[in-house]
Amino acid sequence: MQKEVGFRRNVYLIMLTILGLAVLIQVARSQLVLQFKHNDEHLKERAAIMARAAAPDSQAAGVMTDELFCLAYLGDDPPSVELKENTARTLSYLKRQVQEVDLNTDVIDYKACTAVLLATGELDALESGAGLEEFVHHGGAAFLMTTPVIGDRFHQMYRKLGIIEFEYPVLSKGVRLLSNVLIAEKGLEVGEEIVSNVSNPVELDAESTKLIESEDGIPLMWKRQYGAGNFIVYNGDKLHLKNSRGLVVGGVSMMQPDFLYPIFNSKIFYIDDFPSPIAKGIHPAIYQQYGMELPTFFQDIWWPDMLKAARLYNVKYTAAVIQSYNDEVNPPFRDPVDQEWHQLVSYGREVVKSGGEIAIHGYNHQSLQTNKAIADYLGYQIWNSQEDMEESIKEVNRYIKTAFPNFTPMSYVPPSNVLGREDGREALKKAWPEMSVIASLYDTDYEGRAYVQEFELSKDGIIEMPRVTSGYFETPYTRWLEANTITSVGVFSHFLHPDDLLDHARGRDQTWEKLYQDFSDYLERLHRTYPWMRDITSTEAGFDMVNVLQTKVSVTKEPQRIKGVVDQYKQPLYYVLRTERKIAVQENCTVQKIDENVYLVTVTGSTFSIGLGG
Ligand SMILES: [Zn+2]
Repeated sequence: MQKEVGFRRNVYLIMLTILGLAVLIQVARSQLVLQFKHNDEHLKERAAIMARAAAPDSQAAGVMTDELFCLAYLGDDPPSVELKENTARTLSYLKRQVQEVDLNTDVIDYKACTAVLLATGELDALESGAGLEEFVHHGGAAFLMTTPVIGDRFHQMYRKLGIIEFEYPVLSKGVRLLSNVLIAEKGLEVGEEIVSNVSNPVELDAESTKLIESEDGIPLMWKRQYGAGNFIVYNGDKLHLKNSRGLVVGGVSMMQPDFLYPIFNSKIFYIDDFPSPIAKGIHPAIYQQYGMELPTFFQDIWWPDMLKAARLYNVKYTAAVIQSYNDEVNPPFRDPVDQEWHQLVSYGREVVKSGGEIAIHGYNHQSLQTNKAIADYLGYQIWNSQEDMEESIKEVNRYIKTAFPNFTPMSYVPPSNVLGREDGREALKKAWPEMSVIASLYDTDYEGRAYVQEFELSKDGIIEMPRVTSGYFETPYTRWLEANTITSVGVFSHFLHPDDLLDHARGRDQTWEKLYQDFSDYLERLHRTYPWMRDITSTEAGFDMVNVLQTKVSVTKEPQRIKGVVDQYKQPLYYVLRTERKIAVQENCTVQKIDENVYLVTVTGSTFSIGLGG
C-alpha cells in the first residue's frame, strides 16, 4: 500500500514537471510569435509611411507654434554660418519656425520676432541704436550664442547683459554645469580635452543666474533678466557643434517661460556583428581566466551577462547580423563556408525572446561603397557594381529567412558606419524593399568617411536614425554627447561589438569581469539619470520617430494652461516642458517630473491641456 502511494506521488510529480515544461515552452514560443506578429504590423506601417513620405504636404508638420525665432548671422563669416546652420537644424527638431537674417544685408524685424538668436559675436553688425535691448526690455528673449566681440555696441550694452567687468578673450578650460541646462546633469564636469572655449573673462552682477562656468571659473553661460524679458549669453565658441545641441536647446528653453518641445524618447541599443561567425580559437587572457575557447566564452559567459544587464537596466538589444567574414565582393555569395547557422538560430531566438530585434549588418563586413581611398583606409575591397552589392544583400536576407521564416528584417547598420550614398544605399533599397531604417552615425566625422545622419525621414521613405555613442564603458566625451543629444532630441542610441572586449583600446586590456562591471555601471547610471526613457528596438523607434516628425500638432499658450491639438492622433507623443510654475490639472496627457522644473509630458489624445498654477 505504502509503496503504491509513493509510486503514484512520483507519477504525479513527473506529470506535473512535464506539464510545467510544456507551459514554459509555450510561453517562450508565444513570445516569439508575438514578436513576429509585431513584425507584420511594422510591414503595414512601413507601407503607410512610404505613402505619406510621397505626399506633397509631407513637411507640413514641421511647425508647432506661431512663435517666430529670428536667427541673425553674418553670411560672409564661415563660423557664423556654421553656428546658424546648427541652430536652425536644432530648432527644426523643436518644431519652431525660424527666420534667418543675414546681418550683412538685412536688419532684424523685432516686431515679428518672439525670440532673437544671435549667431555672431559681432554686436556692431546689429542695427544702430538699441533695438535688441528694447526688444528684450519689452518682454522679448534674446540668446547671444557666441562670445561677444568687445566693440562699440558691446560697451553700450554689457551692463544689460549682467556683465560688471570684462577682459579680452582667453581660452577657457572645460565646463562645469551649475544648472540643469542639460537635463538631469547639474554638476557634470567635463575637462578641457573635451570642451574648451574662447571666452571673455567676465564678472557678473547679482541678478545674473550662472548656468555654466569653465573649470577655471569663467562664466560660460548665464541668464539675465532685463526689463520684462531675458538675455541668455553663451560666452564661448562651441555651439556650432552637433555635440553641443543640448546647450542650444537648454538656452532656448530657459529664455522663455513655460517652454514645451517634442522629443523622440527612445533608448536604443545595437550589438553590431551579432550573431556572426565568432572568431574561433584561443584568446590568451580569456583562456587563462575561463579555460574556454572564444565561442564557448561568448556563449556561456558573455551572452548570459549581456542578457542580465539588459534585464536589470531596461535595455532591448537590436542585433545586427553578419553572415560571413570573407572579403568576397564578387558573386555568387551563397552559403559562405564560415557562416554559423546554428548560432544565428539560437542567439537570434534569444535576442527576440528578450524583446530585441534582428537587424542586418551585411552579408560580409565589406562596406557597400566604391570609393577606393575609403576602402584602402578600412582595409576593405571595393565593390565592382551596385548589382553585386544587391546580390550580397539578397543572400543575407535569404540566410536569415532560413532561420526565421516568419520574420523580415527591417533595420540596417552599415559596416564600419560607411555606406555609399549613390550606390550602396540604392543597392539596399532595390535588393531589400522592406528595409525601413538605416542606423549609422550622428556625430560629425571630420574625415568625411562615415555615413553621417540626422534624425529624419528621407524623401524616398527611408528612415535615417543615427547612433550617437558606442562602447562597453562611458568616456567623458560620450557622456557629453549623450547628455546633449538627450536634452535636444530625447534619444540615447548606442552600439558595441562583442569583440570590443578583445581590443586593446575598446576593451582597455581589462578582464571581462572588470569590463562587465564598467558596462553594468554605465547602464545603471544611464537608467538612474533618465529612468523615463523608453527602451525600444530599432525599427519600432524608427516608426515612432516618423510619427513625431509627421504628426501635425498645434500648441498655444494661455495664461493658466498650455493647450494642444493633435491632427489624426495615433499613439502617445512625448514632450519636454520646462517651467517654474506648478503643474495643475491635465487633460489627455500625463506630466512627470524628470528634473527640477523639467517635466516629461506624455500626450495621449487628440486634444490636450496642461494646467499651470502658481
Ligand atoms: Zn561591424
